Amino acid sequence: MTDRNDELFERARAVIPGGVNSPVRAYGSVGGTPRFLVSARGPIVTDAAGTDYVDLVASWGPALLGHAHPEVVEAVQAAASRGLSFGAPTGAEVELADLIASRVVVGDARPIERVRLVSTGTEATMTAIRLARGVTGRDLLVKFAGHYHGHSDGLLAAAGSGVATLALPGSAGVPAPIAAQTMVLPYNDLDAVRAAFETHGGDIAAVIVEAAAANMGVVAPLPGFNAALAEIAHAHGALLIVDEVLTGFRVHPAGFWGLQASQGEVYTPDILTYGKVVGGGMPLAALAGRADVMEHLAPTGPVYQAGTLSGNPLSVAAGLTTLRLATPEVYERVDAAASVVASALSDALTAAGVVHTVPRAGSLFGVAFSADAPRDYAGALGQESWRYPPFFHAMLDAGVSLPPSVFEAWFLTAAHDDDALGHIVEALPAAARAAAQA
Ligand code: PMP
Repeated sequence: MTDRNDELFERARAVIPGGVNSPVRAYGSVGGTPRFLVSARGPIVTDAAGTDYVDLVASWGPALLGHAHPEVVEAVQAAASRGLSFGAPTGAEVELADLIASRVVVGDARPIERVRLVSTGTEATMTAIRLARGVTGRDLLVKFAGHYHGHSDGLLAAAGSGVATLALPGSAGVPAPIAAQTMVLPYNDLDAVRAAFETHGGDIAAVIVEAAAANMGVVAPLPGFNAALAEIAHAHGALLIVDEVLTGFRVHPAGFWGLQASQGEVYTPDILTYGKVVGGGMPLAALAGRADVMEHLAPTGPVYQAGTLSGNPLSVAAGLTTLRLATPEVYERVDAAASVVASALSDALTAAGVVHTVPRAGSLFGVAFSADAPRDYAGALGQESWRYPPFFHAMLDAGVSLPPSVFEAWFLTAAHDDDALGHIVEALPAAARAAAQA
C-alpha cells in the first residue's frame, strides 16, 4: 500500500539526489520510505499521510524545548516582521554572544571571551580549524575515528553520523593532500594521542574532539580523557577544539564541558563550537573561545571567515529565546525523561533476551547491540547493528519516530510529558522482540 510519503519520496528522488537534502534522512540503513513531515509541535511530529509520531529525533538535537515552542515561534515571527536579513550588525547578536559567553562558566572557569556566529555546525568547525592553523602556523589536525564534525574536506576522514551509517571510508571528492593533513586516532586512547604528539608534535595545529561522541552512537569520553587532551595539546603548543555542536546547551546549561567541569573535570578548550540548540531550530551555529585566539579572525586578524546570513535576525531570535527558556528545570526534565526511556529500553531488550547496552553521556543516550558499551569506533562498528532496522520499524509502526540509524543518539525534549513517555515505553517491548528475531 502506498501513501502520501511514498508518493513524495518517488517525486523527491526524481529531483533531489536520493530524495533527501541530508543523507541519513533517506532511511538508507533501516530501509523503507522516509516520513515526509508537515508539522511538529511539542514532542509530536506529523507526516504527510497525517500520522502522528512521538519524536525522538528532535531535528537531530535542536528542539530542546520541544518543537515549535510558542515563545520561540513568536520571537521568530516578530523578528521576521522587522526584516528577514540585514547583512549588518544587530543588537540581538550582541545579546546572544553575551549570553553564550556568560552561560559557559563553572566556578572560575570561563573559556569564552569572544563568539563568532555562523550558520551551520560545519562552518563552525571548519572555521575553528582554519583559526587554529592560522594561530599556530601549523597544518596537521588530529581527530578521532567515528567523530563527526560536519562535512568540510579535512573532517570526513573516518567520520561518524551518515558516514558511519553508510559505511563510507570518508568521501569521494576530497583531495588526498587535504586528507593527509588529518591524523585519525582511536577515541579514548591517550597512548595514541601521546604517540602522535611525540612524532608530529611540532606540526600539529589542533586536536578536535566531540565533547562527548554521539555520532557513532553515544560514546562518552573516559574520565579524564578530555582534560588530558587539553594538557597534551597545550604542552606541544597545539590548540584543543571541543566540538559541542551536538552536546552544547543540550546536556547542561554550559554544555558537556560544563557538565564535566561541574563534576570536577575542569579543562580549558581554546575553541568551542556550537550549533543545533544554540539556534533553537533555525540555521545558526557559533565558534567561541579565548580573546587572543578568536581575535585572529578577520577583520581584526588575518584568518578569513564571513557569511551573508551570519547572525541572521530570525535565527538569532530563535537562539536567544531558546537559551533564555532553557532554565535548569528544563535540563532536569530532559534528564528525567532520558532516564525513563533509557531504563525502559534496557528493560525491554533484557526481557526479549537481546544483548545490548544503553550508553549514556548526560541526557544523551542511544542503544548499542553489544555486551559492552563501545569505547571507540571499532567497538561501535562491532555491534550486531542488523538488529536495529526491525527494532526501528516496530517503533515507527507503533507511532514512535527514532533516529533512522543505530549510530545516532536519541533526543528527548522538555516537552516529552507523561503521555509521550508512556507511548514510547509501551512501544518498546514489541520492538525489542523484533530485534531479538533479527
Ligand atoms: N559537529 C557535531 C558534533 C555534529 O553532531 C554535527 C551535526 N550533526 C556537526 C558538527 C555539523 O553540524 P551541521 O550539520 O549543522 O553542519
